[in-house]
Amino acid sequence: MTEYVLATANPDKAKEIQAILGDTVTLRPRPLDVEDVEETGQTLLDNARLKARALAAATGLPAIADDTGLEVDALGGAPGVWSARYAGENATYADNVAKLLSALEGSEVRSARFRTVAVAAWPDGREIHAEGAVEGAIATATSGAGGFGYDPVFVPEGTTATFAEMTPEDKHALSHRGRALRALAGLLPSDA
Ligand code: IMP
Repeated sequence: MTEYVLATANPDKAKEIQAILGDTVTLRPRPLDVEDVEETGQTLLDNARLKARALAAATGLPAIADDTGLEVDALGGAPGVWSARYAGENATYADNVAKLLSALEGSEVRSARFRTVAVAAWPDGREIHAEGAVEGAIATATSGAGGFGYDPVFVPEGTTATFAEMTPEDKHALSHRGRALRALAGLLPSDA
């Protein structure tokens, strides 16, 4: 199996990507001596590309990166590409969730979606990408202790539980990241 380096420095995301792609490709963790890339793009694709290209250039290996945003309709699509920094530059997951719940307080419009763009980039400049999304609603309070990020307030369409109340397998079967990475895996060349 071809080896890919994983661009994320976020252990929550790395664990999920390994669980989703582990049977399809061999993933190597991001080397500790490779510096974090600043996510300066205006879109999820820009940011995923920046991360995958930088890592492929730094390691000489094909790299996989993903970037995710939560789009909340009542907030005009925010926080979107700024989901990690919604409550400020060094915001914790809890800070971001608290800000989201307070922004939606009293709102009957709770619809939202997670969107992920996943990119594979090769040192010779080749690149492919795929997208995955899941529709859902923002709950009025947090529930569940699994997952990470906005999972305790996101209820995917067709269910009554938040992602944080599901097993990892159930989340990955439905999730934005699961969909984007399975689509990407289907596009990866067998002789890369
Ligand atoms: P990133 O840019 O892909 O690292 O994701 C941006 C932010 O979105 C993260 O810091 C999390 O707060 C949130 N996020 C990403 N993926 C998920 C998920 O699967 N569930 C809940 N929140 C997520």
